[in-house]
Amino acid sequence: MRAVDLIIRKRDGERLTRGEIDWFVDGLTAGRLPDYQASALLMAIVFRGLDEEETGWLTDAMVRSGSRMDLSGLPGIKVGKHSTGGVGDKTSLVVVPLVACCGAVAPKSSGRALGHTGGTIDKLESIPGFRTALSAREFEESLRALGCAFTGQTAEVAPADKKLYALRDVTGTIESVPLIASSIMSKKIAEGTDALVLDVKVGGGAFMKDAGQARALAERMVTIGARVGLRTSAVLTRMDAPLGRAVGNALEVVECFETLKGRGPADLTELCFVLAARMVYLAKRAASPEAARAMVEQALSSGIALERLRQVIERQGGDVAVVDDYDRLPTAARREAVRAPRSGVVTGLDAARIGRVSMALGAGRDRVEAVIDHGAGILLHVKPGDAVNAGDLLAELRVGRTARLDDARAVMAEAFTIADAGTDPGPLVLDTVG
Ligand code: URA
Repeated sequence: MRAVDLIIRKRDGERLTRGEIDWFVDGLTAGRLPDYQASALLMAIVFRGLDEEETGWLTDAMVRSGSRMDLSGLPGIKVGKHSTGGVGDKTSLVVVPLVACCGAVAPKSSGRALGHTGGTIDKLESIPGFRTALSAREFEESLRALGCAFTGQTAEVAPADKKLYALRDVTGTIESVPLIASSIMSKKIAEGTDALVLDVKVGGGAFMKDAGQARALAERMVTIGARVGLRTSAVLTRMDAPLGRAVGNALEVVECFETLKGRGPADLTELCFVLAARMVYLAKRAASPEAARAMVEQALSSGIALERLRQVIERQGGDVAVVDDYDRLPTAARREAVRAPRSGVVTGLDAARIGRVSMALGAGRDRVEAVIDHGAGILLHVKPGDAVNAGDLLAELRVGRTARLDDARAVMAEAFTIADAGTDPGPLVLDTVG
């Protein structure tokens, strides 16, 4: 087989065979395939696509490029969760303990931040001492003891995806339904859960800019899950404005504690209920979606989910006192206020720009090896729909030690839209698939 023939066939809109896709992924994983040919094939896929069957084959090959977690020794239905990535998207820290309190097993494997979206592992690592590199045995023991645990994705999970993602990131080939679907699903299948809830983000701060594309991505992922017996359900949610009011690692951890104490922002709390209820229902811990919703609301209002997160932090070596004393978390070197240039109503808050501001302040990574400042980020004082007077505080910047403050200020100046009259920001949950 020759790589150039696969590239030409896909360039001309032909279907690849299972054998060809396996050959491509094996060659990539073993380092036999040069990056220029892998990149050319990726670009041909961006333009010509892969059909459902080809996407399933690509996913299978990526799963087989590494090892699969075996959680079959644990009793009960194991249910995973994944978000396609957004700004201020911190639901995992709330949803995972909520679901565990409702009797499902919630193993959470997560990645780190790259680009303008955040990563759960970086957020957790802002808690002093918290260990995210658990061995398979430690992970399983924590799941057995608490019903939930957080771990970083190891090098053994879908290594072909790691190579492909790194190439896609620098060759303009991220935005493709079959490539995103196979990338996400290969990791989730390798994680060995029985069921999966996906939060597919739609809007300016997401990979998928419109609901049609997002629905196509959700449908493709649900189909891939069904092929391998992973019961998958997707929720399409808006990502035009950041979720909640905190963007940046330690700031987001505080917002999660506040949410579990019943004092979280309305949008974040609602999305956590939606996702957790779906997970509880898929894990067959409730007779109906409505009963699942009532269970997760009760787990939050009774305080048991907060207690569960405290136990997780303790078990994974973190400083549990942070739950009550936020001053123990990292803080940024300095603060700067952003004020309203005019009076009116906030009609837009650009999530992609806020993500870029957060990176410029030191809270994100533009390269895999970049070091982040856990205390850096943005606290939003107003959200779309809020009325403001000229000079009111719009946001507070938490400036990290290595911040590019001029860049942050320049992008921030464009992030808010203030108009004479407000517009309806629309519902948070747009649709569900599967
Ligand atoms: N997240 C992933 O894991 N892969 C993609 O391709 C996009 C988002």
